[in-house]
Amino acid sequence: MGIISDNIFREGRILIPGGVNSPVRAFKSVGGNPIFIDRAKGSKMFDVDGKEYIDYVGSWGPMIVGHANKHVTKAINEAVAKGSSFGAPSPLEVALASKIVKAVPSIEMVRMVNSGTEAAMSAIRLARAYTNRDRIIKFDGCYHGHADSLLVKVGSGGATLGIPDSLGVPKDFAKYTTSLPYNDIDALTKIMEKEGDSIAAVIIEPIVGNAGVIRPIEGFLEAVRKVTEEQGTLLIVDEVMTGFRVAYGGAQTIFNIKPDLTCLGKIIGGGLPVGAYGGRRDIMSMVAPEGAVYQAGTLSGNPVAMAAGLATLEVIAKDNDFYPKLEAKTKKLTAGIREGAAKAGIPIYLPEAGSMFSIFFTDKEVRNYADAQGTNVAQFREWFHLMLDEGIYLPPSPFESYFVSSAHTGNDIDRTIEAAKKAFKGVTA
Ligand SMILES: *Cc1c(COP(=O)(O)O)cnc(C)c1O
Repeated sequence: MGIISDNIFREGRILIPGGVNSPVRAFKSVGGNPIFIDRAKGSKMFDVDGKEYIDYVGSWGPMIVGHANKHVTKAINEAVAKGSSFGAPSPLEVALASKIVKAVPSIEMVRMVNSGTEAAMSAIRLARAYTNRDRIIKFDGCYHGHADSLLVKVGSGGATLGIPDSLGVPKDFAKYTTSLPYNDIDALTKIMEKEGDSIAAVIIEPIVGNAGVIRPIEGFLEAVRKVTEEQGTLLIVDEVMTGFRVAYGGAQTIFNIKPDLTCLGKIIGGGLPVGAYGGRRDIMSMVAPEGAVYQAGTLSGNPVAMAAGLATLEVIAKDNDFYPKLEAKTKKLTAGIREGAAKAGIPIYLPEAGSMFSIFFTDKEVRNYADAQGTNVAQFREWFHLMLDEGIYLPPSPFESYFVSSAHTGNDIDRTIEAAKKAFKGVTA
């Protein structure tokens, strides 16, 4: 948008595919050039042209205590001064593992990796080893990273670019993955009753965040747990986005679901590259070197990343009302947005889960990926750019979640509501 940003993008496109290191950043589904960021602090991001934005992307989830939080930055600085990587165990790894095991009741043991992609990929391998089965089931619109067997009917990036999800995934790999409509208990029960004994794992986002926000209907997660248990199929709950976001112990503590394995990422890295998978001790004990399921990483458990994650969880835990306050702030914002849309006569559907929400331009309820895809993308595009002009930075795709952080102030919320009211008036009805 700014001159400096556009110039950097022009050069970046020659050197980096699409000028970006992750597809959705490229503004492809909203049009226009991406904005290059110089720095961020609290709820704000500042681009290279000096324009300020109230940020609702939050690095796609990790920045729940805001950008460059003092406590987190201090912990990172202290850690890096002691050396940025050892390739040998450090006490910080055990400290973060302990925090995770205490926070998430279903996790008895946990292995740190470098991304959510790695976490999901490794959990699948482990589930296949444990059950001695090859097939997996996922749900349309759920994203579990970009490993081959999981790039089937993914949301966000995939939704934006359209199906098929990716070239380069051998049919022989994809054939082991079955994707079912989210919230469809019958579809899942039917296949599990018939073919469950060949299914290693069912992997699911307990609240979908990667097709916009889609909440599980009453009884859905319970049904998923029940049919998997009956068939000896492992349940992998992917809480890379929802873990420490919708509640300290993740969505599984809200819905009271006990998965066999859980994937984490985003918040537990405090803005540094981290993922983790964990769960039942008898399953996790199969991971090398304790067991024969190989999985490794040069930078896994990196001390600087562990310090950032630990410090973030400390900031959250310091405040007994951290989640209620965050939720109340989000509710105020979403109520204001709904009101603005209604006043402008623009129908929207705005699902929320704690400090996560999204906006679909539609007059219908969105219960699955097909519903999400049927919403008005042209209106979203207009809304996105009008909000950007007002200095509000939203996810540049209709199929992504918005995130509120503890650093967002009352003034930020008020300003955002005002901007939203104005923007909705500019959206073509
Ligand atoms: C972000 C995300 C991933 C992938 O994590 P990366 O760190 O981007 O590899 C996997 N699953 C879910 C639910 C996510 O939100």
